[in-house]
Amino acid sequence: MVQQQQLKGKVALVTGGGSGIGRGAALRLAEHGAYVCVIDRERERAEIVREEIVHGGGEAVAVEADVSNADSLRSAVVHAAERWGRLDIVFANAGINGTWTTIEDLMEEDWDRTIDINLKGTFLTLKYSIPYLKRQGGSVIITSSVNGNRIFSNIGASAYSTSKAGQVAFMQMAALELAEFGIRVNAICPGAIKTNIGQNTNRTAEAEAAAIPVEFPEGSSPLEHHAGSPEQVADLVLFLASPQSSLITGTKVYIDGAESLLK
Ligand code: NAD
Repeated sequence: MVQQQQLKGKVALVTGGGSGIGRGAALRLAEHGAYVCVIDRERERAEIVREEIVHGGGEAVAVEADVSNADSLRSAVVHAAERWGRLDIVFANAGINGTWTTIEDLMEEDWDRTIDINLKGTFLTLKYSIPYLKRQGGSVIITSSVNGNRIFSNIGASAYSTSKAGQVAFMQMAALELAEFGIRVNAICPGAIKTNIGQNTNRTAEAEAAAIPVEFPEGSSPLEHHAGSPEQVADLVLFLASPQSSLITGTKVYIDGAESLLK
C-alpha cells in the first residue's frame, strides 16, 4: 500500500492531465504529495485540474501543450522540471481514439494524426523528460490499451491499435535503455474506462457494423458490469510511480476486469 505523502518532494508530469485517466492520476499523485504539472492541449481543462489540486492542498501548474508538437512539448517539460528543479514521474497518457473506419477508407491524414498524438507524442514526452529523469532516476508510465495488445475486436481501429501496440514496443526499448539510470518504464493497458475519449471518436457506420459482437454489453467487464473509473486506473499509476514497484520495469499491466480475456 502506498503511504499518504509518500511522493512528497517528487515532481510529476501528466500529459492529457485535463480529463479522464490523466486527471484522475494527476489528482491521486498530488494527494500523495507530488508536485504535478498538468499538460493538456486544452488549456482550460488543465487549469481546472490545477485548481482542484490546489484546493485539495497540493501544488500544481497547468501547461497548454500538444504532445505531437516537439517545440510545444519541449517547453512544457522544461517548464515542469524547472518550476520545481527536478522531474521524477512521467505519465505519458495523452491520446485520442481518432477515426475508426476500414483501412480502405481511412484517410492518410487521419492515420497520421492518431499515430502522431498517441505514438510520436509518447516518444517526445520521454525524449524531453529523460535528461531530467537521469539526474536521480524515476518512473515513466505510458497509457497503452487492451486494444492493440490483446483484443482486436474493434474493427476500424487500425491506427489506434497500431499506436497502442507501438507504445508497448517503445516502452520495452525504453525500459532496457534507461535501466542503468534507475529509470523504470511501464505501460498500462486499460479496458473500457468512463472518460471523455468517446466524444471525439469518429467511428463510421461500417466500422460499427463490422465490430465483432462481444458476450457482455460494450463498456462492461466480467468483473464489474460497467466501465471502469479513472480513479481505479489512478491507483495503478500511483503504485507504478511509487517505490513499492521498485523492481517493476519493462512490463505492461492490464487493468480491464478481464474484459480482454473474453473477446
Ligand atoms: P479523455 O479524452 O478523457 O482525456 C484525454 C486528454 O488528453 C484530454 O484532456 C485531451 O484534451 C488530451 N489530449 C488529446 N490530445 C492531446 C495532445 N495532442 N496533446 C495534449 N493533450 C492531448 O480520454 P482518456 O480516456 O482519459 O484517455 C487517456 C488515455 O487513455 C489515452 O491514451 C487513451 O488511448 C487511453 N485509453 C483510454 C481508455 C478508455 O476506455 N477511456 C481505454 C484504454 C486506453
